[in-house]
Amino acid sequence: MSTPALRMSTLFLRTLRDDPADAELPSHRLLVRAGYIRRVAPGIYTWLPLGLKVLRNVERIVREEMDAIGAQELSFPALLPKEPFEATGRWTEYGENIFRLKDRKGADYLLGPTHEEMFTLTVKDLYGSYKDLPLSIYQIQTKYRDEVRPRAGLLRGREFIMKDSYSFDVDDAGLQASYDTHRAAYIKIFDRLGFDYVIVKATSGAMGGSASEEFLATAEHGEDTYVRCTSCDYAANVEAVQVPAPPAMAYDGLPAAHVEDTPDTPTIAILVDHLNAAFPRSDRPWQASDTLKNVIVMVVHPGGRREPLAIGVPGDREIDEKRLGAQVEPAEIEPFDEADFVRYPALAKGYMGPGVLGQDAKSGIKFLLDPRVVDGTVWVTGADVPGQHVIGLVAGRDFTADGTIEAAEVRDGDECPSCGRPLETARGIEMGHIFQLGRKYAESLELKVLDQNGKLVTVTMGSYGVGVSRAVAAVAEGCHDEFGLVWPREITPADVHVVATGKAEEVFAKADELTAALAARGVLVLYDDRRKVSPGVKFKDAELIGVPTIVIVGKGLESGTIEIKDRATGHRREVPVDQIVDAVVAEVRGPRGGDSVVPEVERAATSAAQGASS
Ligand code: ATP
Ligand code: MG
Repeated sequence: MSTPALRMSTLFLRTLRDDPADAELPSHRLLVRAGYIRRVAPGIYTWLPLGLKVLRNVERIVREEMDAIGAQELSFPALLPKEPFEATGRWTEYGENIFRLKDRKGADYLLGPTHEEMFTLTVKDLYGSYKDLPLSIYQIQTKYRDEVRPRAGLLRGREFIMKDSYSFDVDDAGLQASYDTHRAAYIKIFDRLGFDYVIVKATSGAMGGSASEEFLATAEHGEDTYVRCTSCDYAANVEAVQVPAPPAMAYDGLPAAHVEDTPDTPTIAILVDHLNAAFPRSDRPWQASDTLKNVIVMVVHPGGRREPLAIGVPGDREIDEKRLGAQVEPAEIEPFDEADFVRYPALAKGYMGPGVLGQDAKSGIKFLLDPRVVDGTVWVTGADVPGQHVIGLVAGRDFTADGTIEAAEVRDGDECPSCGRPLETARGIEMGHIFQLGRKYAESLELKVLDQNGKLVTVTMGSYGVGVSRAVAAVAEGCHDEFGLVWPREITPADVHVVATGKAEEVFAKADELTAALAARGVLVLYDDRRKVSPGVKFKDAELIGVPTIVIVGKGLESGTIEIKDRATGHRREVPVDQIVDAVVAEVRGPRGGDSVVPEVERAATSAAQGASS
């Protein structure tokens, strides 16, 4: 089938010389400069023709792999009534992230941030028996979230495209099978997209549910931090890392705690210096990890209720905002400010200690400890009086808390929760999330079916997302060099970029002929047929746009050759004119040939991706 070429003389495209002022990441800069997307408002973008082609390719891969596991495509509206979201509590829970609007009669609507409610209600509407299940349905659709910080172009948009699918099963074994099938399909999708990724354990956040994994594109500038073990196959988003608690220790015979003057020691570093000067230990110097740092924040619940929360962590560790955020979701964290301190006079800023913290203690403030602070551990901590600390305070003996919390930072070298060897940290972009949602939505929306015995049972669900528009940016983030984009074969906007250089009529005649011959073979050609543009500008544009194969028709014609350049490696070769069509077709179909113009991309295997997905 013939595929009409994209002619640059008429293509709706303007490449830009300068980086857009708001772009920090290479993917964002390059997608704008190369004419793939245009910003309309923060986190809202127009897809220009080349960008739309890449987006459609990502969609095609996702669709093919979902169809291959028997998931069925449907499409929900983006504009939704409030009622289903009220039934699940999310009209409130989602807070300011929802775009809300009213119709002319004053009824409340929203632009869907996610569609659990719609999937669940539609299945409830149409199905009623175990015989109807299992079922997997999906859509590729536009979502709206009024993100606090839209970022990096398509990576965190306020309007973005997601593939979301849901599985429906009668029992846990069915859910596990549906989850495993989706997981395998995701591995195929991300292999085909052609970038490096890892599969990590994840938290299931506001959705509830249990088993959960994320597919992260490995990326230096990614928003997510994950850890992987240097020895076993453990890999997890830092949000999901559960710090192995050391065993509790006996405290019989430990000396009594004593309060000491420690004037002007509001920070841990100053405190440690002061301890070593004024109260030297006989065995070793004091260090930050001997201190218990108590941090206080304000938790703002959906609907606006504000609740202070105190967290005790070893003094050598900071609180990780994302880890803390994941623990309190859907609530949000705000700083505990001066006015709040005035409201809680029991707190001595800079010298807070477990003495007043805890729901049953003087302040009444909820107090949670890092899992390392087990019974029998001994600490230096605030004495709740400005300028004083208490030395030798023993957990379990001298203080208790209201529970533990995973909020302290995770560092390179920390112990693997699975095998105890050192962990290492790295960054990534969340591309997909699969999890076993369980019965949460089915319960609140009463999705039940009759089982084999004629008894009503609540359906169990799995939820599976892919960031489709985010994938375009994530691939760009992983596949570029200093000159521009370098698309993987499966999602490139065109198979080959034919560049006609110079002024000679025969060059354009030959390039026209080549383009037509390639089009007739089903190759999608981006053809630079512009007459008054210099070769230098054309080459620069070709590098910027990033089609993986560039064919240069120009000077070589004098000696009967045309040049093929590999965009990724820069490798060039001259091919005799009479062999050029076959050579280009072979190039774009890959070494294994076959009928498809678009060959399967070899997995860009990293040890991380293999380690996590095998
Ligand atoms: P994040 O933690 O990045 O905010 P999320 O956990 O809220 O994402 P999900 O609700 O699990 O996201 O959505 C499924 C997928 O949709 C994500 O894995 C991600 O790839 C994509 N996605 C989520 N939010 C955005 C956004 N604002 N812009 C683009 N893609 C997004
Ligand atoms: Mg997620």
